[in-house]
Amino acid sequence: MQRRQFLKHSAALLAAIPVSSALSSENTAATLGTGSAQFSPIIASADRIIEMNVCTRPFRAQGPRIETERMRRKTVVHNYGHGGSGWSLSWGSGLLAVEMAKTTGQQQIAIVGCGAIGLTTALVAQQAGLKVSIYAKERFPFVRSYFATGAWTPASRICSSEHASDFAERWESMARYSHRRFQSLLGVAGDPVEWRDMYNLSNASITSNEMRGGRGEPRYPDFEKELIKDITPQAVELSNQPHPFPVRYVTRAPSLIFNIAAYSRLLMDEFLAAGGIIENFELKDRSDFSALDERTIINCTGYGARELLADDTIVPVRGQTAKLIPQPEVHYGFHYAERGISVYPRRDGLLVQAGAGGDFDNARENLNPEESIRAVERVAAVVEGMRSKV
Ligand SMILES: Cc1cc2nc3c(=O)[nH]c(=O)nc-3n(C[C@H](O)[C@H](O)[C@H](O)COP(=O)(O)OP(=O)(O)OC[C@H]3O[C@@H](n4cnc5c(N)ncnc54)[C@H](O)[C@@H]3O)c2cc1C
Repeated sequence: MQRRQFLKHSAALLAAIPVSSALSSENTAATLGTGSAQFSPIIASADRIIEMNVCTRPFRAQGPRIETERMRRKTVVHNYGHGGSGWSLSWGSGLLAVEMAKTTGQQQIAIVGCGAIGLTTALVAQQAGLKVSIYAKERFPFVRSYFATGAWTPASRICSSEHASDFAERWESMARYSHRRFQSLLGVAGDPVEWRDMYNLSNASITSNEMRGGRGEPRYPDFEKELIKDITPQAVELSNQPHPFPVRYVTRAPSLIFNIAAYSRLLMDEFLAAGGIIENFELKDRSDFSALDERTIINCTGYGARELLADDTIVPVRGQTAKLIPQPEVHYGFHYAERGISVYPRRDGLLVQAGAGGDFDNARENLNPEESIRAVERVAAVVEGMRSKV
């Protein structure tokens, strides 16, 4: 549906954009920068956009719902509402949910949902010796998780500052366990997970990695700085050193990147290879949990839980991304908050994200091609600035 919408809405716009010189050897051959800091230029032009997607983050002010509920003869362990951190916290969140499910003593369990949380929880359950069947309306690449940015952002819109102290301990255990699991995926064929340098660009001084939301959003805790500083690479200040970026202040910090195409395939393949079963099934309301054969069920329906359980503690936070044709030679990305853009060097396409006002509490999954095209143009302006600094 995302693709159909994209093609429908963007055909006219893309047709209006002149095919740029972006593919010329001038743009691809030379590197930018000096000395040991050589940067392959990102080829940013709208005619290189291969995909645009929009989806909603399932934010809960109190943090994700990971708790057990008895529904008639079934035990349902909820595991949903991971805001902008679902990929990052998936392993630790799955571990918590599976520990709760194991207390029922059932050896055969069901998982509802096949996104980042459902699939990862299913693997954790299999590794704990349980037999698992997944029931889901959609699976990769049609789940919302597929449309995420794909970076280690364990504290992104995960709870509001108001609820931080109640949730901090649980968050830390989930973040540490997940972080450890991601390190075990480095160097695996297909590069599902990698470390890449991300640059923070600014013309005003960069204060910190503070978590600032957009307009109308609550304040968020900076858990990474407060709770897991020891496993969080610190940003290096480059402002007074030679760097290729056309801005006054620059910091660099390595970040974990999830190459979602390869990573989701790996998760799916491992689940099926271990005897897992996936069935297409849509639960219309909470009474449908009783239609499943298994008596212990882990509910990983993400934003879908809002309708399924009439749970309005889930607040939608809209986000739109665009992918540019992959450039394997590009090993860096950047955030440029003043221009409202970020670029991530994913293997399955350079991921361009635009910050847009009005995303919080916005359930409209309407694709706005112009939003991504303008973001790509702003990325192109940065690359042009890098070129003229050489
Ligand atoms: C633009 C954007 C960028 C993001 N970037 C990052 C990032 O860089 N790093 C990060 O860690 N997180 C990021 N996130 C957040 C992350 O994508 C989410 O937290 C995560 O995808 C939630 O995963 P999930 O499995 O809970 O939900 P989903 O991916 O939505 O999966 C839900 C599953 O449940 C199924 N389902 C739903 N309802 C029903 C029903 N009634 N019956 C049967 N099945 C049902 C669906 O079909 C699907 O299989 C981002 C999110 C957005 C929107």
